[in-house]
Amino acid sequence: MTRNVLALCCLCACGLLPIRAADAPVAGTMFFQGRDGVEIIAIQDAPARMKGNLFINTRPDYPIMFKLPPDWEASINVFLVRRAGESYLVDAGNAPERGSLAAKLAALGVKPEQIDAVFITHIHPDHVGGLLSGGAGAEGAAPAAQFPRAALYISRVEYDAWKNDENRQPLGRFLQPYANRLRLFAFGDRLPGGFTARSAVGHTPGHTLYALGQLWFIGDLVHAAEHQFQHPVVCARYDLDPAQAVTTRIEVMTEAARQNAVVLGAHIPFPGIGTVVGPVNLAGVTRPTEWKHFHFLPIKGNELP
Ligand SMILES: [Zn+2]
Repeated sequence: MTRNVLALCCLCACGLLPIRAADAPVAGTMFFQGRDGVEIIAIQDAPARMKGNLFINTRPDYPIMFKLPPDWEASINVFLVRRAGESYLVDAGNAPERGSLAAKLAALGVKPEQIDAVFITHIHPDHVGGLLSGGAGAEGAAPAAQFPRAALYISRVEYDAWKNDENRQPLGRFLQPYANRLRLFAFGDRLPGGFTARSAVGHTPGHTLYALGQLWFIGDLVHAAEHQFQHPVVCARYDLDPAQAVTTRIEVMTEAARQNAVVLGAHIPFPGIGTVVGPVNLAGVTRPTEWKHFHFLPIKGNELP
């Protein structure tokens, strides 16, 4: 769903054409109105399902026997944030041959040069792949930035960990075209647009939560929302440090519920936006333990609280 809000002129004095209104809803995108003029467009870069055998129970003494389904519904979501005429992306989705971010931005009337910054939650292929343009894979062609003006924000911890991780080093080709506009930051730093970077480590060593007021972009805090809000001790095998990922997941869910924050997840079923309730008691859990359980409530309507 889109609205005419995209017709607002760019106020950043960049000399670009205003973003035009989308003439018709663009499938796989949804518009949300936040407080203080913040606009969020959730963009489904690609549909996804997470296989049940990708998940592990990190605590053998956990009092619930897990019945893992063959797979869970998931998604690869990217969030376009517009505020005061500036446009930001949180993550960039898959490489162009596997994702649709570039096509959907074009369908929304958003030109690549209108993106002012991309905030990367962590360096995995489904989050940095869309930083390259579709022509990057052509033989002999140099990798080209999909967003020619955008500054690229990554936590310094994540960047340093990536550099020392042999398995992830090949992902550097997605970052390379942004080398002269790379902005490495520390957790706690204030970033453009009013975003604050917060540590949400565990999935990767520098996994970052971006907070814009009460809008919390949680990246890969959860991979199977249907299960991991209720059972945060369950980890995807993608979590590089499962014990830390569990601790972080419980901390963020506890705080999100307490503050009534809106969480926006990269793999929560599209549009990936909702609130957290809890801790709650679950039937079948017989002892009040340190285990925490939550519920995820998908957002209703297009107004963000
Ligand atoms: Zn991911």
